[in-house]
Amino acid sequence: MNLTDRVAIVTGSGRGIGKAIALKLAEAGASVVVNDIDKMAEEVAREIRAMGKQSQSVMADVSSAPDVASLVETATTNYGRIDILVNNAGINRDQLLVRMSDEEWDKVINIDLKSVFLCTRAVLRPMIKQRWGRIISISSVVGLIGNAGQANYAAAKAGIIGFTRSVAREVASRGVTANAIAPGFIDTEMTQKLPESQRQELISRIPSGRLGSPEDVASAVCFLASEEAGYITGQVLTVDGGMT
Ligand code: NAP
Repeated sequence: MNLTDRVAIVTGSGRGIGKAIALKLAEAGASVVVNDIDKMAEEVAREIRAMGKQSQSVMADVSSAPDVASLVETATTNYGRIDILVNNAGINRDQLLVRMSDEEWDKVINIDLKSVFLCTRAVLRPMIKQRWGRIISISSVVGLIGNAGQANYAAAKAGIIGFTRSVAREVASRGVTANAIAPGFIDTEMTQKLPESQRQELISRIPSGRLGSPEDVASAVCFLASEEAGYITGQVLTVDGGMT
């Protein structure tokens, strides 16, 4: 995939899947704005600059509208345009529903779903104007099939799918596509928190016989961000080793 001259924002890209996406987009030639809520984003931006590509880090909480406005403004001021938005930032606060607090519900909905609305709304006008754009949001297989203990997370991730399909219909005629990726179990800090017995049980349910890597997800993002994927919109691409 050739993304030369494209400008991308990747939310939550200081580590994990987001970091792999930022590096893969840069490898393909894009200038990348790396976002996080702590200072890890700057390390990733430095790594990209060391590859000879342009990158800048922006600390911002993507569930906050003023933070999102400054994230998008920094990208536009520095690079003059935004071509690719990857809505990747996400958290989980797992709890059985009978014990789930309002705070656990609100936090996951705000960071995993409201952020997708805020970031997409903020980039859509300039993308429509330039008649080219790629919105790629990281959902989850949990948003498709549900998971005990993750009602908040599953609701947010299923919400991303409905949101994506609606935005796709709104802007398809303007050269802007909106797609979601539904990863299965990917080897990051999010899944490394699981007890080893639970990890082994998960692996036994994956036909490919292994957890996915952040790069497996990044490759799918890179494809959906490319020129070649211009006729694909409103889709959910599952990257789960055949699990679902
Ligand atoms: P991760 O390792 O926990 O990384 C999440 C990233 O998001 C971190 O860089 C984190 O920043 C950032 N972030 C959290 N809250 C944020 C906020 N309010 N504003 C900006 N950035 C924020 O997670 P991951 O496993 O790479 O997951 C990435 C995405 O894939 C998430 O949306 C997740 O739901 C989804 N996903 C993951 C899996 C999996 O198996 N790992 C499966 C399906 C879907 P800090 O470093 O500051 O915390």
